[in-house]
Amino acid sequence: MRIIIIGSVAAGTSVAAKARRNNLDAEIVIYEKDQDISYSACGLPYYIGEDYIERGQLSPRDPLWFKKRFAIDIFTGHEVLSLDVKEQTLQVENLQTGAVFSDEYDVLVLATGANAVSPPIEGKDADHVFYLRNIVSADKIKTYIQDKKPKTAVVVGSGFIGLEVAENLSRKGMNVTVVEALPKVMPSYDDEMSIRIKQELQEHQVQVFTDERVQVIDALTKTVRTDRGRILPADLVVLSVGVKPAVELAQKAGIKLGVTGAIAVDARMETSIAGIYAVGDCAESYLLIDGTPCYRPMGSTANKMGRIAGDVITGGDLTFRGVLGTGIVQVFDLSCGQTGYTETAAKKASYDVEVIHNIKPNQTEYFAGSSELIIKAVADRKTQKLLGVQIIGKKGVDKRLDVFVTAITFGAKVGDLAHLDLAYAPPFATTKDPVIYTGMILD
Ligand code: FAD
Repeated sequence: MRIIIIGSVAAGTSVAAKARRNNLDAEIVIYEKDQDISYSACGLPYYIGEDYIERGQLSPRDPLWFKKRFAIDIFTGHEVLSLDVKEQTLQVENLQTGAVFSDEYDVLVLATGANAVSPPIEGKDADHVFYLRNIVSADKIKTYIQDKKPKTAVVVGSGFIGLEVAENLSRKGMNVTVVEALPKVMPSYDDEMSIRIKQELQEHQVQVFTDERVQVIDALTKTVRTDRGRILPADLVVLSVGVKPAVELAQKAGIKLGVTGAIAVDARMETSIAGIYAVGDCAESYLLIDGTPCYRPMGSTANKMGRIAGDVITGGDLTFRGVLGTGIVQVFDLSCGQTGYTETAAKKASYDVEVIHNIKPNQTEYFAGSSELIIKAVADRKTQKLLGVQIIGKKGVDKRLDVFVTAITFGAKVGDLAHLDLAYAPPFATTKDPVIYTGMILD
């Protein structure tokens, strides 16, 4: 059996590793158009901001490692140009030599990821304007900072990547401004939670303008102009307005896309064409709460999808159970976590929503370092089942978030939370943990 995988970051390499563990005989080949493989894109904002993080730590494995460890052939600098799904062949270009050749597969896996969205801004192609998507793009920003020593920066977009970039540029000593077209920062959070995040940015001297669009980037004056006529200094600009799934190859080959625009897959990660699978940021997902299709391009999901596809294509019976869109982000001293539905999204999905707000200390108050956790839980009034949670605080957000994730995954009702036997000692929690308090409100 010859398995060909396109793309070699989180999803593609997970497919390959699992397939090899299941099947020692299959030929496994990966084509990757870039040079870096299997790297941590999630670490890129910190690679820019922190001098102690080295490039090699983000990308510790090379094709030789995969060859020796897993007998997997990874061809970097090789772009797959087209697929012939009837003949089960693909056209590949060696980007170094320009040579184009054909290869054939028994099973094909698309792990082509996502591309940064390019917003309609005049002057966005200037040398001091960057995206952050892969290691090469991070290198460009890092080198620019070292060479040009920018004093001011504008980050366009305030999703989690935009905010991580803003913080890291600010740590580098720049005066940073975040400009967000929507009315709030971290638009995936409900309004009252988002306000706390905005406050944290402002307390750390990051200027924030919401409901405002950058229209022009002026390379001569090193400024940007917004649609409100505001002129902001910008020695450096980072565009971070989201990603879109890389689906061109699939689309041209007649593989169906889902309602979100990502490649439609079933629970086995198989596309509309038998024998062709799609995983990671190029693939559509669905909410495990109610099966609603969604697009949540996360590294955590890419790894999971990859493992499942790797199992399926080698005869296993793993299936993908969907996502909650769980995410966590550090914004200066705050940790902000989110899983499942927000109040806004749940109402949009026609749930009769019950909202539970809860502000509690993360650990016993007499213990040094205790601080507040702001928890917002959303439940379905009819079934009392938890639909989603947002948490903001300085310490202990990750632990609570993952408890909520587990509870939602297993269909818990809000009242069930009050009965969890959670860990307690003064440095870690309160006798009744904030999660338990959330449950007590509806128990
Ligand atoms: P990608 O990483 O996009 O890899 C796809 C690969 O396919 C690319 O290398 C591309 O060159 C290659 N390719 C595409 N088309 C072709 C072709 N035709 N021929 C050959 N090769 C091709 N996720 C989290 O869960 N937590 C985080 O904290 C987090 N932080 C992030 C921070 C940043 C700055 C970024 C950019 C992302 C972050 N993510 C995070 C998201 C996470 O990195 C992605 O979800 C993950 O990288 C997706 O992996 P993938 O393999 O599906 O796609």
